[in-house]
Amino acid sequence: MSIGAIPNGEIKEREKNQYMVRYQKVSKSFGNLEVLREIDLDITPTEKVAVIGPSGSGKTTLIRLLMTLEKPTSGVIEVDGELLWHEEVKGKLVSAGEKHLHRVRGKVGMIFQQFNLFPHMKVLRNVTEGPVHVLGMKKEEAEIQAVEMLKKVGLGEKTNNYPSQLSGGQQQRVAIARALVMRPKVMLFDEVTSALDPELVGEVLAVIKEIASEGETTMILVTHEMEFARDIADRIIFIDGGCIAEQGPPEQVLGDPQCARTREFLSRFR
Ligand code: ADP
Repeated sequence: MSIGAIPNGEIKEREKNQYMVRYQKVSKSFGNLEVLREIDLDITPTEKVAVIGPSGSGKTTLIRLLMTLEKPTSGVIEVDGELLWHEEVKGKLVSAGEKHLHRVRGKVGMIFQQFNLFPHMKVLRNVTEGPVHVLGMKKEEAEIQAVEMLKKVGLGEKTNNYPSQLSGGQQQRVAIARALVMRPKVMLFDEVTSALDPELVGEVLAVIKEIASEGETTMILVTHEMEFARDIADRIIFIDGGCIAEQGPPEQVLGDPQCARTREFLSRFR
């Protein structure tokens, strides 16, 4: 993407605190496949946004872009007033250096479908690795914070276990603690219950609800759990064919959808 493609030039100072996340005309293609088309999306600090839509519609790509796991083909993304792939140097926008990318990445945490815990490390060490190696925290301090987060997700008793000794639901809760301990401003959840046995889904959703109720963190959740989305989200976004087809408060999008595609999609869940 050329820097000339950035819509508004520098981010204006007064806008910095207004949005936690901004997508401006963001498109993403893989080869000839256009997965996202000119997405415009503003998310305010502490907002909880649930992203729903058919398989293959671009939901995961939307949040992977924010985690810098993918780079937009065109358009720009801001997190907490900073551009993801560019930075301002002496009043000019240039491609971001590693230092800038590292800092902006640190504002975002992601929890995946597969928990991706380190199998050879005990639960506690899985959670302290980030603070110690990425944030440069002392081991003792990292352990205090890790225990606090593990207690928060109901696993204060499991610090000395290996991931293989835990159920899938418990492993996913460790993954949540591992993300939380980095104190991200934005948490991304990508279908975090899809790989779980049905009886384990509830405990993971309950932990996410609890974190959401604390209110501080901006959250974007890709989910197929419509009741959960209704409970937790301030806004629901329905994505179809790489575009935002409909969005609004849960009671509107889920209860009285305006778009025929949303109605058709939701009918599968009844
Ligand atoms: P969703 O989360 O809504 O199921 P995704 O964002 O995962 O959709 O994928 C959207 C489309 O992009 C799908 O057709 C998928 O196969 C394709 N896609 C995703 N990632 C890649 C990739 N790294 N390379 C090629 N195609 C991809």
